[in-house]
Amino acid sequence: MDPKNQAHIIFVYKVPRETMNIYDVIVVGAGHAGCEAAHAAATMGSKVLLVTMNMETIAKMSCNPAMGGIAKGQIIREIDALGGMSGIITDKTMIQFRMLNRSKGFAMWSPRAQSDRWRFSEEWRLILEQNSNIDFFQDSVTEIITESNKVTGVVCGMGNKFHGRSVVLTAGTFLNGLIHIGRKNFGGGRMAEKSSFGITAQLESLGFTSGRMKTGTPPRIDGRTLNYELMEEQKGDELKYTFSFSGQTKPLTNQRSCYITYTNNQVHDMLRTGFEDSPMYNGSIKSLGPRYCPSIEDKINRFAERDRHQIFVEPEGWNTVEVYVNGFSTSLPDDVQQKALRLIPGFEKAKIFRPGYAIEYDFFQPTQLEPTLETKNIQNLYFAGQINGTTGYEEAAAQGLMAGINASLKTQNKEPLVLQRDQAYIGVLIDDLVYKGTEEPYRMFTSRAEYRISLRQDNADERLTPIGYKIGLASHSRIQNLESKISATKQLVNHLHKTSVSPE
Ligand code: FAD
Repeated sequence: MDPKNQAHIIFVYKVPRETMNIYDVIVVGAGHAGCEAAHAAATMGSKVLLVTMNMETIAKMSCNPAMGGIAKGQIIREIDALGGMSGIITDKTMIQFRMLNRSKGFAMWSPRAQSDRWRFSEEWRLILEQNSNIDFFQDSVTEIITESNKVTGVVCGMGNKFHGRSVVLTAGTFLNGLIHIGRKNFGGGRMAEKSSFGITAQLESLGFTSGRMKTGTPPRIDGRTLNYELMEEQKGDELKYTFSFSGQTKPLTNQRSCYITYTNNQVHDMLRTGFEDSPMYNGSIKSLGPRYCPSIEDKINRFAERDRHQIFVEPEGWNTVEVYVNGFSTSLPDDVQQKALRLIPGFEKAKIFRPGYAIEYDFFQPTQLEPTLETKNIQNLYFAGQINGTTGYEEAAAQGLMAGINASLKTQNKEPLVLQRDQAYIGVLIDDLVYKGTEEPYRMFTSRAEYRISLRQDNADERLTPIGYKIGLASHSRIQNLESKISATKQLVNHLHKTSVSPE
């Protein structure tokens, strides 16, 4: 461990304080993976404890406040079809909705929504609190308890010890997290949040292999200082969609616009003045980042021939002036970020609320997992989300859902659920992870799915709701919705078979 991070360890664990409860499933971390895991297991009847470092940051969107997009939108619809909550919560909190790829065939259509980041977290917390099978505890888990290669509970930083029949670990970017802005670096799991210590070292001592990855995020800007007249407006779709098949949510009637602008050679020259101090170029960050979500410094380096890069200016919510500068992820010194931003059309007077930064964190090679996401080394211990080397809320939520389902099924002595590659993008995701592993942050693409023509976002309910219902996760009303849809489709097809219309 980096010695400069040791200052963050404030609790010294001596004698654990035992609690009487024995939980079926203990979920560690309330990010996108942890929330889906806790909700799924609890809905399926398991008694769940959700332990997270900070109750104020449940389901926090660490990077941009958007769900879905190409291949990721399909995953959200699959989560929803199985009975997960990410789709419903996105619908309830969205401020803009777009169906991407509408110029292509139906299989490529991909829903994407911009959410209000604060409302997104609030809705998730509300849903979890409404589930009486879920208990909460705020602290950092520092140790996993095992007996004869089987997990039996967790110990927290303040000394509390909880017993569980299974544990789902979803620590995201927090394990030994180290934040970089220019030459400054400090421990943190996200900006202004502590890193998590202890677990990596302990898991290594139990035979696990860990690695290091990195990711980054752009600066957030005061929208009052931007000149939107110099940018191109990007409105939401007029067509009305929702993510959820449940019928519980409604399409938006009012949407917030995003805006498009571009970098230019002056911006690139200004950014280059900071390269020497950039942790990516001066060797302080050695780990691999998401190739398909490059930083602005990576973009101008790798695509030196391009004289501009697109920037999407995205509002962070309904009631805030804060905006997210999509396409400008950076860990350059904050003064360079500020100067370069002001050379972008519309950003001449831009003020930064929060500078962009990069973060390095530990992950565990997912080949150490079974297709159920249970670890091969320790029985009843499951890993889900960024800890498995993935990137993205959707990928994390999907794994959390499957880990929560399988932890619950196992404690109920039922058959596990493993989705196949021809059944779901979620099947492709987990199959790729556990059999191939990953050397760089893994994100989903339609090209990874050999059955992508049949894995459409609009048929996720037909593919998965019967499965979600059978395991006790999808509600009866979801099955009724599906039956009505299938019967209406049959009627229409019959009608078309029987009806002929002359060209006139
Ligand atoms: P997280 O959302 O990180 O949640 C982890 C949770 O676990 C937190 O609640 C934390 O408090 C809790 N926790 C951690 N350790 C412990 C412990 N020991 N005890 C108790 N609780 C614990 N994704 C993209 O798709 N594109 C991007 O451009 C992108 N950029 C990013 C930039 C940054 C700076 C960061 C931090 C993330 C970025 N991501 C990006 C990744 C995205 O945020 C994650 O993929 C997603 O949030 C992972 O979800 P998760 O549930 O695995 O973990």
